[in-house]
Amino acid sequence: MNMNVSKSGQLEVSGLTKSYQSVDHLIDVLRDVSHSLTSGDSLAIVGPSGTGKSTLLHLLGTLDRPDAGKIQIDNIDPFELEELELSKFRNAHIGFIFQDHHLLPHLNVIENVLIPCLAHGKPTTDHYDRAKSLLDSVGLSDRFSHLPKQLSGGERERVAIARALLMNPSLILADEPTGNLDRKTADQVTEVLTELPKQHGAILIAVTHSQTLAESLQQRKELVDGELHAVI
Ligand code: ADP
Ligand code: MG
Repeated sequence: MNMNVSKSGQLEVSGLTKSYQSVDHLIDVLRDVSHSLTSGDSLAIVGPSGTGKSTLLHLLGTLDRPDAGKIQIDNIDPFELEELELSKFRNAHIGFIFQDHHLLPHLNVIENVLIPCLAHGKPTTDHYDRAKSLLDSVGLSDRFSHLPKQLSGGERERVAIARALLMNPSLILADEPTGNLDRKTADQVTEVLTELPKQHGAILIAVTHSQTLAESLQQRKELVDGELHAVI
């Protein structure tokens, strides 16, 4: 496992700016986003659709580049890395949880959790042990060989949470993780999502429309006119 990677558990974002070119004008989505978080912190980003929440997560996830401003994860500016280095960095430092889980349908539960380590070759015994222990923590120890289609929506989302933690990332990004779930299932996923990243010392940033999830996290911010504002 990538245990020799230095991870200070810090995220620093300053002056992040991003616009998109529309047919005849620029859409300023993010104007000046600054925020710092450290290991164990959690932040909910709320706000109406179209305000740039997913855009911000994409930048934080190094999947897209800002027009201006700076991101440092574990004291490294990922945008200074070359493409191959950047993909290695992303794999080791950042975990992703999507609304529609993005599990691979032909792989079983444990194989899906192991996906992030495949970039480094065959999974080691350590990887298997960590995958099993994460699946235990999300309450799926008896589902290792199930295929995604044999699981409920909440179980699939919990597999995605286990997968996001496999490489021991410093930063976990979740885009509406409970968006497709009924109330009771959403509550179970919220509980796992509130506890597990903290236990593993990761920073969690979740975009959410769920008041329950937002209130379970340590900080809440709303994107207003391209800036992060405190939620009153
Ligand atoms: P949210 O996640 O808060 O709903 P998004 O970040 O998805 O908002 O989108 C913010 C704004 O940026 C929207 O007006 C959207 O249409 C626009 N946008 C997002 N991605 C692109 C893109 N790749 N090209 C052009 N416009 C985009
Ligand atoms: Mg969105």
